[in-house]
Amino acid sequence: MNDHGKPGWGLIGASTIAREWVIDAIRASGGEVRAVMSSSPARAAEYALANGIAASTGSLEALLDDPAIDAVYISTTNELHRDQCLAAAGAGKHVLCEKPLALTLADARAMVGACAAAGVVMATNHHLRNAATHRAMRAAIADGRIGKPLFARVFHAVYLPPHLQGWRINNPATGAGVVMDITVHDADTLRFVLDDEPVEVTAMVQHAGLGEGIIEDGVMGVVRFRSGLVAQFHDAFTTRYATTGFEVHGTEGSLIARDCMTQKPIGEVILRTAAGEEALPLDDDNLYARALRAFHAAMRGEGAPAASGIDGVRSMAVAVAALESAASGRTVPVDPGL
Ligand code: NDP
Repeated sequence: MNDHGKPGWGLIGASTIAREWVIDAIRASGGEVRAVMSSSPARAAEYALANGIAASTGSLEALLDDPAIDAVYISTTNELHRDQCLAAAGAGKHVLCEKPLALTLADARAMVGACAAAGVVMATNHHLRNAATHRAMRAAIADGRIGKPLFARVFHAVYLPPHLQGWRINNPATGAGVVMDITVHDADTLRFVLDDEPVEVTAMVQHAGLGEGIIEDGVMGVVRFRSGLVAQFHDAFTTRYATTGFEVHGTEGSLIARDCMTQKPIGEVILRTAAGEEALPLDDDNLYARALRAFHAAMRGEGAPAASGIDGVRSMAVAVAALESAASGRTVPVDPGL
């Protein structure tokens, strides 16, 4: 804790996601952003100034040496997450890490293991399970309002905004491509809403010209869950005019959500049954602030983060299997190796 008794945070990575969402979420949930680290000290200083952060550094060791930093938020490109997480856990810092946790499941499991061994909280920033829409659907299913869920469909095809058209579409070394970027979120949201675990995946990827070389910019796939439910997912960087959605169809009813696969606290859910249609009441809340409140509580020993490190591994395992399926043309088992 810092001088004011607030959780002190260090940012590892001077990223867009921290600037657009997570810095505000840390502050809104009672934390203090003490320092930012970038691979470029000049960029770190510029970023600190622009975002009202007192300190900046080009050194991970210096950031982790600060005793007033209790937790770190890792939002660098994906190939850097593992080593930064291992160093943070080694320094006794709690870790909120961006998705995908790493480039391989073995690395992601090592991160979870290091945090567990150090006795620090580890969370994965799967923001979508904090959306009012997805929480309402999970509750409706748990309450039996659609009977036995049979099918789900996730529509998460978007247009990658020009300011993000960098490493995601041109640098394979970062774990680029739409599957590691978006399918991991679909997998986590499906796991959360259905309270079920994926078993196997079949996927086909698309190269429509935005992703360079081998980097896929679209995917469609199917996941079978333990319960027997079959879920369809559609993700893209290339569709300018699509809408997002999430549907679950059961023996007694259907849940139909629109505009819900987004960072914003928006969207609606319709429940359709023999009784007709009703809009589910939603308690809209900032998705990232909600994640940070749960993280701060977990730091105090009260409850668990919204999405744990293990959730990060399990959800990433679907993306890894989808890529393997697309490459091989076969259905691939989902094996998080836990
Ligand atoms: P950015 O490209 O904005 O940032 C990633 C890294 O790129 C930064 O850490 C920074 O390195 C470097 N960088 C950023 N801007 C510049 C620049 N102008 N010049 C040179 N280098 C720059 O990535 P995102 O914020 O989009 O994504 C970061 C991570 O967050 C990824 O793991 C991604 O998957 C995840 N993400 C998660 C989201 C969610 O809602 N959960 C949403 C968006 C992203 P350095 O720090 O060394 O300067």
